[in-house]
Amino acid sequence: MRTAYITHPDCRNHDTGPGHPEHSGRLYSIEDQFVASGLDHVLRYVDAPLVSEKQLLRVHPPEHLAAIQAAIPESGYDRLDPDTVISPGSLDAAYRAAGSVVAAVNLVMGGELESAFCGVRPPGHHAESSRAMGFCLFDNIAVGAAHALATYDLKRIAIVDFDVHHGNGTEEIFQNEDRILFCSTFEHPFYPYTPLLPNTPNRISVPLPATAKSAEFRAAVTDHWLPALEKFQPELVFVSAGFDAHRDDDMSHVALTDADFQWVAERIVEIANQSAAGRIISVLEGGYELNSLARCVDTHVRVLMGLQ
Ligand SMILES: [Zn+2]
Repeated sequence: MRTAYITHPDCRNHDTGPGHPEHSGRLYSIEDQFVASGLDHVLRYVDAPLVSEKQLLRVHPPEHLAAIQAAIPESGYDRLDPDTVISPGSLDAAYRAAGSVVAAVNLVMGGELESAFCGVRPPGHHAESSRAMGFCLFDNIAVGAAHALATYDLKRIAIVDFDVHHGNGTEEIFQNEDRILFCSTFEHPFYPYTPLLPNTPNRISVPLPATAKSAEFRAAVTDHWLPALEKFQPELVFVSAGFDAHRDDDMSHVALTDADFQWVAERIVEIANQSAAGRIISVLEGGYELNSLARCVDTHVRVLMGLQ
């Protein structure tokens, strides 16, 4: 079992209240699909640890941690922004979500695993160093990538983000980090309405129009991501895996299919096989239509495992 599914029951206790699209049913749907498809028999299940303060502080200042800790209500709900609801279980969920990526890094870099999928919530890629937003408290993937840089002396890490929303948090956190290449596609103009920055050797942002479908998405990856990734030769590949660009998901206008998500996972595996000894750490971001989310995550994980 060279691929793990890393999660924790605490991630279900992040209660966002009635009617919120980012709810615990997302994880139940994914895990039910693993059982229905038989993937549960071949996946290794790993409990996500709590992230340590030291690990969080690599990407978030102490004031951000203190503000989140202080904002958690003793009962009921509170909001960090109009979209970002917190409740008594949210802090442990967020610590597990960030901790899952750290654990994945240790298992993959230690040679115990080739790849991992972190099925966690709250998601992370909108959380900037000092700002929780867009359902995200801490930038889980950034915490993991910073841990990999600090602990394993890596020179080149790629983070690819195919969530339909721009990963503004990851971009901001690593804007001056030459050891990270951040490749993203996202609907534009659209939430989070961050300004489009010019591409650099360490940042490949490919905006997609609201009308984009398979052809535009695949061209963005083929023409922009892949040449940059092939040149960069990452030693470890992270994936901000959001499935909200699916045509069945009403969180965006972009209309991708199951086949597109499989296709991009296959391209990511090819890149990882070229220069990163196949090492991939994929982390759940968005994806709110439960049927397409569950199917696409199942296929994504199968591609990571070489089963699809
Ligand atoms: Zn999203």
